[in-house]
Order: sequence, then structure tokens, then C-alpha cells
Amino acid sequence: MTTFSGNGFKRNSINADTQAMLEVARKRGIETVWDRLAKQEPQCGYCNLGTSCRICAMGPCRVDPFGDGPQKGVCGADADIIVARNLGRMIAAGASAHSDHGRDILETLYHVGEGKTDIYTVTDSAKLKRLAAEYGIQADGKDDKTIAKELAWEMMEDYGMRRAKLPMANRAPKVRQEIWDKTGVYPRGIDRENVEMLHRTHMGVDNDWVNILLHAVRTSLSDGWGGSMLATELSDTLFGTPSPRMSQVNLGALKPDYVNIILHGHNPMLSEVIVAASQDTELLALAKKLGAKGINLAGVCCTGNEVLMRKGIPMAGNHLMQELVIMTGAVEVMVVDYQCIMPAVTETAKCFHTKVISTFDKAKFPGAEHISFDPARALQIGKDIVRKAVENFANRVPDRVFIPVEPVPMMTGFSIEAILGALGGTPQPLIDAIVNGQIRGAVGIVGCNNPKIKQDLGHTELTKRLIENDILVVVTGCTAVADGKAGLMVPEAADKAGPGLRAVCKALGIPPVLHLGSCVDNTRILVLAAALANTLGVDISALPLAGAAPEWYSEKAVSIGTYVVGSGIFTVLGIAPPIFGSPNIVKLLTEGLEGVFGATFAVEPDPNRAAVLIRRHIEKKRLGLNLPAIQPDEITMPEGELALA
Ligand code: SF4
Ligand code: SF4
Repeated sequence: MTTFSGNGFKRNSINADTQAMLEVARKRGIETVWDRLAKQEPQCGYCNLGTSCRICAMGPCRVDPFGDGPQKGVCGADADIIVARNLGRMIAAGASAHSDHGRDILETLYHVGEGKTDIYTVTDSAKLKRLAAEYGIQADGKDDKTIAKELAWEMMEDYGMRRAKLPMANRAPKVRQEIWDKTGVYPRGIDRENVEMLHRTHMGVDNDWVNILLHAVRTSLSDGWGGSMLATELSDTLFGTPSPRMSQVNLGALKPDYVNIILHGHNPMLSEVIVAASQDTELLALAKKLGAKGINLAGVCCTGNEVLMRKGIPMAGNHLMQELVIMTGAVEVMVVDYQCIMPAVTETAKCFHTKVISTFDKAKFPGAEHISFDPARALQIGKDIVRKAVENFANRVPDRVFIPVEPVPMMTGFSIEAILGALGGTPQPLIDAIVNGQIRGAVGIVGCNNPKIKQDLGHTELTKRLIENDILVVVTGCTAVADGKAGLMVPEAADKAGPGLRAVCKALGIPPVLHLGSCVDNTRILVLAAALANTLGVDISALPLAGAAPEWYSEKAVSIGTYVVGSGIFTVLGIAPPIFGSPNIVKLLTEGLEGVFGATFAVEPDPNRAAVLIRRHIEKKRLGLNLPAIQPDEITMPEGELALA
């Protein structure tokens, strides 16, 4: 078997598995996301600034705010209007993606209530009853199926237009809700806010850029306190609320002698049943008959995070690994649902024996085999897919199998219930640790990989700088995979933390970096922040908290960042959003929002500088709460590597 050192690819990624597989790609002439980025360069300057518009057929238009070119589009829209419209549409697309995912889970809960599924059931009955109470449903004397049906019916209204306020937004502190009321951004119906965003940004509707952006905040809040929160809560209800457990991460999650199935995308519905189907005795016997030792599952992106959190299924990689995982030659089937799945995976699969199986009718892929997912027959569909994988093992070419690394351990499963459980049932011990300065504050690092940044450097450098300075880090999405690969998510990583955080982690037996789940599970961060604020009787914006998305690429990340800021949490982006063609909008988002929502965005591609911004912010908030604090201007820049490739 040939081995590949990957030495020539250190500028692309910090990870040995990525580097080695990029060498495989180069030697075998297989194109990757990095090659395609290089072919796109230089990318369009107008699009980077956000000042290109193709909303109507009088265009496309480009305005040139800093040069001698046109200052207005054909309709008269200037840079402010065009940037605001583009940003609003990005947020609507991201919020729609999360919320439509939530809708699919909600429909499944309804099927459970109607008894129309061959496998799904209510796994967390206590959470079902808590949600029922939150939605005003009388649960006494009713069985779970009846409650599930009534709750699902009631939650369907969250997507409609009869509500004046989304019920789960009531979890936010009252003072935060008053800010939303005062600014007219309290989220009403999920679909309503998204459709209104598209309406407002049609040519000739909302031409006040501040007004457009306020509705963009409302749209994002309908995601964070609506569609995404619903997805998280109902996934927990159906599949179980996660609890801490150990698993493994990186390409070593693939096993050379096993049938390997990759679960990729975002929705846990099918992947949960594939986990069950992979334990089917008949299919295991067939796998052994065909020469495999068993059936191995591994995740990519957030479907991976979902089954990692709840079932401990190991994670093969994050966003930029999706083509590389196929290049190991060890994947029989990649099952895809939706979101973040590059169309390129089917092209890569053609070079190997791997079958790509698409499963949702709203997400088909040329070159993939499509098996339409139906919650009523979920287990049977899961078994059919696993059987295809087992049968495809016979087509594997052993000489082409190359798994470059051994997996590393990571701890997962930190739902809010699990965190509170570890703290003895109340957030008070965490508050005490923050008050006495053992923990300076907490930061949610979230989001994707982007080939414009050396893979995982942004996530891991920022995480290291923060935990070194006694700041607890919580992670979701592709950040969790990055930090897991870097060995930051095991209890022993407490040794890499500052003395205060180290002592807390050692006392509780937890890592200094906690895995809260997938991208929709960023709502767990909102719930935790609200619980801390409510316990202290302050707004979320008063707390020593921050958010960061060092390597984001997705429209969903723009929605997440906006609902996090709209909820009062300062957020640092590692990739510049397409807003810099409008100095007015840059000023509003980086300064002006402070006076409205008590939080702003910052853009800082260097994770070490981002850590300084965040530390200064946290110490400023500590001063505001009269907690022992370092003067923010005493925090200086450490030396470090730039994340830009
Ligand atoms: S909406 Fe205005 S700026 Fe946009 S393409 Fe049409 S004419 Fe051009
Ligand atoms: S973090 Fe970003 S790239 Fe990763 S799964 Fe989520 S949206 Fe996709």
C-alpha cells in the first residue's frame, strides 16, 4: 500500500489526515474544493463588497462606492440598499434552511402522534411534557402519543401567521423581549418572517436600508428562537436528549476491514434509523459472509454531530473533508440528506466504488442514487440502504484503501440538561465560578470550514487562546470536529486551560471545550445564556459571553450570527461578510447595534487577534457586573500564526 505524507499541503490545513488525502488527490488527478477555489480567483470584487445586484431583469447591476463607476443600479438603488437587500436575503436563506429542517422533524413528531411510523417514538417523555406545558397543552392523563400529536399541531402554528410572538422566544429574559418589542423585531411566525424578507427585498418595496436590516434581525430571531430551537428540542424528544459520552474523530474513524457508511448532511431522522439498521443481525451476517468484520458508521458535518451527540457514532471529518473521505477508498456508501453537501461528492465517488445515496426529495444530486425518505417506512429504508452498502463491499479495491491516521478520542453529548446535571441541577455553580473569576466568561465558537482559511486553524487557535485565559468554550458544528481533532475535547485537555478553568474542569471531569451539538443546536447556547441571565436577573447582553464563527461559509451561519447578536451577544466573524461596499452598514453592524441590541459584530480573520477582542469584551462585561476584572486595555496581542492560507 502506498502512503502519502501530505507534506506539500500544510498551507491548506493543520490536519495530517487532510494533508495526506490532498496528496492522494494530487497524485490521482482528483479535483478538490481547494483546486476549484484557485480556479475562481480572483473572485468578483463587487460580490465581495456586496454591491452587485441581480434581483431584477433591468440588471444585473454593480455599483462602485469607492471609485468612478456607477453609484446606483438601474432602479436607483445605492450601495446601502443593495448591500442590505443582499444581506437580508442571505439571512432568509439561512433561516429557511434551519427552519425547514425543524419542520421535517415536527412532521415526524406528528406522524408519531398519529401512529404512522415503523420506528420513531417519543424517547424523552419528560422533555415532551415540558414542551407541552410551554405550549399550554394539558398533559395530565394523556399518553405520549396523544401529547405528541397535540404538541405537533400547536407547533405547526409557529410556522404560520396567527401568532403575535413565537412561544419559545419567551425563554429569553424579559428585558431582552422588551428590546425586541421596542425595535419591532419580536419574531412572529417563522415562514412569515422569511417570506416577508423576500417580499421586502423585491425591487421597489423596502428601500430604507435600516428598515431592511431590522427585519433581517427579526428573520434571524425566528430561526434562533423558532425553527432551529424547535429542531433541537424535537430531535431530543424523539431521539433522546444527549448525555456525555466518549467517541472518536478524524479519518481514522473509518475502519479498513469493515463496511463503512458515511452519514452526511444535517437531519438526524434517517441517520438515526441507519444506526438501528446497522445492528440488524441479518445484515451483519451478510457483511461477514462478504468478508467484512462488521458495519461501521461515521459522520461528516452536522448529521454526524447529531448521531455523535446522541449515539457516540464517531466523526470522520468536517465540511472540507467530504470529498477526502471518499478518497480513502474505504467508503461503501455516503448517505446524504441536505445542507452543506457539495455537488462535487458524486464526481469524486465516480473515481472509487463509493455509492452516494440521496434521501430527501428536496435535495437530489446528479450522479447519486435517490431513495426517497418516508418516515412511515423509515426502518425499512434504513435497512435497504445498509444492505446496499454491505453488498458494495464486494466492489472495494483493497489496494486503493488508504486511511492515513488513527482516530483521536473526544467527549461529546453536552446538552443543557447534561451541563446542568453535571453542575448539580442548577447553573449556580457556573455562575459562582464566573463571579469568583475562576472562569472569566464563556464563548460559543461555531460554524464551518472555508477553503479561504487554513482548515481548522481559526477554530483551534481561537479555542486555545480562550481556554488558556480561563474562558469556557462551547462548540457546535464543524468547530466541534476541528477542536476534537486537535485533542481539545477530552477531560485531559483541562491541562491546556488556565488555572481557574482547569480546576473547574478537573473537579467535574469535563473538557474545557464542550460539544453542544449541530448547527441547529446553537440554540442550546441561547437557552444556556438565557438561563444564566434569568438566574442573575440581568439581560443576556450584560453577561461575559461572546460568539465566534472563525471559518464560516454558509448563509445559515449569517443567520446564526445575526440571531446571536440580536440576542445580545458580541460576535466575531473570521471571514468578512459581503457588506464592505456600504460604510454605513459596516458602521451600524460593528458599532451602531450596541445602542440597539447591546451587542455588535466584529470581523477579524486572525484568531489570535480575535481572542484579544473577545477577552477585552469579556473583561468589559465583568467590569459592568462589578466582578473582579482585568482592565481591557491591559490585554495585549499574543504571537501566532495567521489563519489565512
Ligand atoms: S433591483 Fe435595481 S439594482 Fe438590482 S438588478 Fe434590478 S435594477 Fe439593478
Ligand atoms: S458548521 Fe457550517 S459547514 Fe459545518 S455542517 Fe454546519 S453549516 Fe455546514
